[in-house]
Amino acid sequence: MDYKKLANRLFPEEYKPLSYYEEIYPPRALEKGAEVTRLAPSPTGFIHLGNLFVAVANERIAHRSGGVLYLRIEDTDLKRKVDGAVEAVIEAMSYFDIHFDEGAEIEAANEYAPYYQRQRAELYHAFAKSLVEKGRAYPCFCAEEELTALREKQTAEKKITGYYGVYAKCRNLTEEEIYQNLDAGKPYVLRLKSLGNPENKLKFRDEIKGEITVTENDQDVVILKSDGIPTYHFAHAIDDHFMRTTLVLRGEEWLSSLPVHIELFDALGFVRPRYGHNCSLMKQDGETRRKLSKRKDPELSLGFYRQEGYHPRAVKVYILTLLNSDFEDWYRKFPDKPFEEFPFKASKMSKSGTLFDLDKLNDVAKNEFARLSAEEAYDFLCGWAQEFADEEQKTYFADRKYMLRVLNLCMGTAGKKRRKDFATAKEAVNLLSYFFSRPVSYEPYRVTQEDRNAILRDFLAGYSAADDAQLWFEKVKAVAEKEGFASDMKAYKACPENFKGSVSDVAEVLRIAVTGKANTPDLWSIMQILGKKETAKRISEQIS
Ligand code: GLU
Repeated sequence: MDYKKLANRLFPEEYKPLSYYEEIYPPRALEKGAEVTRLAPSPTGFIHLGNLFVAVANERIAHRSGGVLYLRIEDTDLKRKVDGAVEAVIEAMSYFDIHFDEGAEIEAANEYAPYYQRQRAELYHAFAKSLVEKGRAYPCFCAEEELTALREKQTAEKKITGYYGVYAKCRNLTEEEIYQNLDAGKPYVLRLKSLGNPENKLKFRDEIKGEITVTENDQDVVILKSDGIPTYHFAHAIDDHFMRTTLVLRGEEWLSSLPVHIELFDALGFVRPRYGHNCSLMKQDGETRRKLSKRKDPELSLGFYRQEGYHPRAVKVYILTLLNSDFEDWYRKFPDKPFEEFPFKASKMSKSGTLFDLDKLNDVAKNEFARLSAEEAYDFLCGWAQEFADEEQKTYFADRKYMLRVLNLCMGTAGKKRRKDFATAKEAVNLLSYFFSRPVSYEPYRVTQEDRNAILRDFLAGYSAADDAQLWFEKVKAVAEKEGFASDMKAYKACPENFKGSVSDVAEVLRIAVTGKANTPDLWSIMQILGKKETAKRISEQIS
């Protein structure tokens, strides 16, 4: 077979010699050990938690080693392209403090551009042509129905499905048949002519999974589709080579294609990058663990964390905790050090499914929220509210000073032991609503209506906003005593049957009347913040 002739027929265009591309995309001048990693999303508009996990790992590995993190857009599948998706990726990543050094829509030297696969057709075609010239790629004219029939036959015969070996019909077409098909204008795809034998097993070092066994590829995979657009396999090999990626860290769903990629790099004469395959994110669902699903689990979408108002740092801390199991200890020891100092390593990443647990994230988020100063909390909550809160909630932020007093009370004094009430901005804004408007609902009172009325009346009779916390409490105790509740906890505990309840029940009545809730920060302080008029009004409205 005259491969050169075939190559010229399939690719009539004269391309530059392949060495040209090696020259214009030379190996990067980086320090030894510097890693070049990338994020390579398809612009589908849906960025998910899995992308963020891989992005955090890629970012840490690149930047810890003095290397480069770049953004490549895998837009070969036009049907899935959504306008604004690239900006959305950049924006979503920057929210979590992940910044690209180069790539699509990034202002930088961008020496390895273009970063959109659609704009790299020349490269793909030049190399596809070279594979045809070497007899390592051939046109396949099989129609969709033929391939479906083949798959069904293989399934029925319990054979591995695919286009390989004896099933790879077009691999054995004669020169004459090929030209006949081409002359007839039959559509075709370009396939790799695999030389592999699945009986051969190779040892392979995955940066995350460690040593694994890989079966040699024998699939004649498609490298260019009938419209000349490359498949992921082919584009990956060309791009990661010419963008000089040193470490391909990607989702585990690509592990099964690794043998194809190994063969492609060899066929193209490229040195392979190293690979790390990140395990899938799992969720505990009753007794079983399953993969997080787009349909069932809103938390898979990154938009979820924005809408709920998780502080980006909290999400990052939790992701780092899951990515490198020693991060938690390190962070406990050095809570104030920048994350950059943590010795992040691909080899410490989990080898099998990572359990993503929203309850754990909430615990982390409460801790992280408690680390904010009142001012930082104000800015964060206010930013969230402008985007996601209702009109009434937005007004909470009009009086900054007032909100700061509220936050100082509800979070506790900085430096001291802080309250940990809020996991998200949404939760915080909802929980703080009683400082801005009358409660819309009340948790149940645990005393009789008669006692409740008496307690509220007695309290109002003696209430003065000028009382300090101590005097205020003396007065609450006096109310307790008057109404048959123990003012002294010790006495109450010794003989509870002698009392209707204790002073804490009395305080709870006041608390619910003022805030709607049985659990709040210090009630005296709340009354101080609300002021005498509002406090008295709320209490008297609860007397029935
Ligand atoms: N476009 C692929 C994806 O979104 C990229 C995989 C990779 O990182 O190589 O899954």
